[in-house]
Amino acid sequence: MTGLPSPATLARLTAVVGEAHAISNPALMDGYMREWRQIWQGRSPLVLRPGSTEEVSRILAIANETRTAIVPQSGNTGLCGGQIPTDAGTEVVLSLDRMTRILDVDPADNTITVEAGAILKSVQDAAAAVDRLFPLSLASEGSCRIGGNLSTNAGGLNVIAYGNTRDLCLGLEVVLADGEVWNGLKRLRKDNTGYDLRDLFIGAEGTLGIITKAVMKLVPRPRSWETGFIAVPSPQAAVSLLSLAQDMSGRRVTGFELIADIALQFAIRHMAVRQPLASPSPWYVLAELSDPVPGTLARLLEHAMEQGLVSDAVIAQSDSQRAELWAARELISEAQKPEGGSIKHDVSVPVSKVPAFLREADEAVSRLMPGARFVSFGHLGDGNIHYNVSQPVGMDKAKFLAMWNEMNDAVFEVVARFHGSISAEHGIGRLKAYRMPAIKSPVELRMMRDLKKMFDPNHILNPGRVLPE
Ligand code: FAD
Repeated sequence: MTGLPSPATLARLTAVVGEAHAISNPALMDGYMREWRQIWQGRSPLVLRPGSTEEVSRILAIANETRTAIVPQSGNTGLCGGQIPTDAGTEVVLSLDRMTRILDVDPADNTITVEAGAILKSVQDAAAAVDRLFPLSLASEGSCRIGGNLSTNAGGLNVIAYGNTRDLCLGLEVVLADGEVWNGLKRLRKDNTGYDLRDLFIGAEGTLGIITKAVMKLVPRPRSWETGFIAVPSPQAAVSLLSLAQDMSGRRVTGFELIADIALQFAIRHMAVRQPLASPSPWYVLAELSDPVPGTLARLLEHAMEQGLVSDAVIAQSDSQRAELWAARELISEAQKPEGGSIKHDVSVPVSKVPAFLREADEAVSRLMPGARFVSFGHLGDGNIHYNVSQPVGMDKAKFLAMWNEMNDAVFEVVARFHGSISAEHGIGRLKAYRMPAIKSPVELRMMRDLKKMFDPNHILNPGRVLPE
């Protein structure tokens, strides 16, 4: 078992990074102790900010020897509390925020090699500088870091065309629990030489090792986009529109986001987003085609209108209008804050089942809490809906949030009915670890526990995250 590290252990850990990069004064730790939504807050005796793989390795060797729990933290935008220490005050935070270097950009191999603390936006910019695209894109891209993206297998806005972070990774460097360094920084597109160790660390949320470097894939940068904000009468119409779009332009559909009207209205009310269309519609789709045959989106909309799938639409006429349309989607999460409490669900079901899921989940939540507001939006092209429930107008926020588990139960019961996932993008962290025995079969759980034991026998790496203690 891990416990409160002794003063001698803390001194040894501090010596690895030097006083300048170790924070032990609680007043200076604040930014590392709580996250964006202010839901998770913790305490820690020490925050370490190593500057190299070698320092991470020395930290873990000491932690392993002294049974000191280590919480890796990259951009601290995770939504499941995995990167925040518990309030027991015993876990040491290891921040990757000094390891931000872009080590190599290779347009011939279409790869970029980075340290785990590189901010996603800076990786995108480095790719653009050599006329390539790094396609991972999330609303948190100005803050989240590649190590966190890999550890959560982040999804985002372009998964429909380019896949999750896992699909964009070729190689990793990982520091193991005992401090040994695995250099798996390969750039190969094909490598069938036994078990895929890289994939074990992706999505492991820091429970099996600490990712220190990565080789990521680049793709050709699109030369043109057609982006439309489209009014649709229902989620079913949106699913049919997606089929039509893929029939007409195949893999060129690179974004397909569903947005409930209330979500857009929140963004208009609180984030100075402009109403994109003349009159409101119950649902919208933000669709983007990359490198389409010119005019494809307009033709698609014409067909869709004939079939009653679309009632109105605007197609971006400039880069700034395109950015404005995307902002309407990306600012929704932030726009929910002034509306009071919000209980969020990051779920996925098969794409064709999204309309039935939304209907049944709304019914289940309404039974539990009449007046709840359904701020549903998300990556319809991946069957991944951010099923966010805002509190009824005028309700006490604390009373609403006290219903968190009950509401989760109601929504997850519907997810299970559709053989979906209770965590499509954000991971398990501390938030959902207790649910693992209910959502994984005994054999899955046993394999996961065996892996954890093998990689981290002293249980120092992010204990209690992913697998319940
Ligand atoms: P952190 O929050 O620092 O850490 C996340 C987890 O990874 C923790 O368990 C941590 O311990 C572990 N970890 C971090 N670094 C390492 C490392 N180097 N080695 C091992 N373990 C590590 N997510 C999506 O998938 N899609 C979205 O569209 C999306 N949109 C978002 C929008 C907003 C406004 C916000 C605030 C968040 C959003 N997220 C989204 C969630 C979040 O941004 C992602 O989960 C992101 O990948 C987390 O990266 P991070 O660097 O902030 O990681």
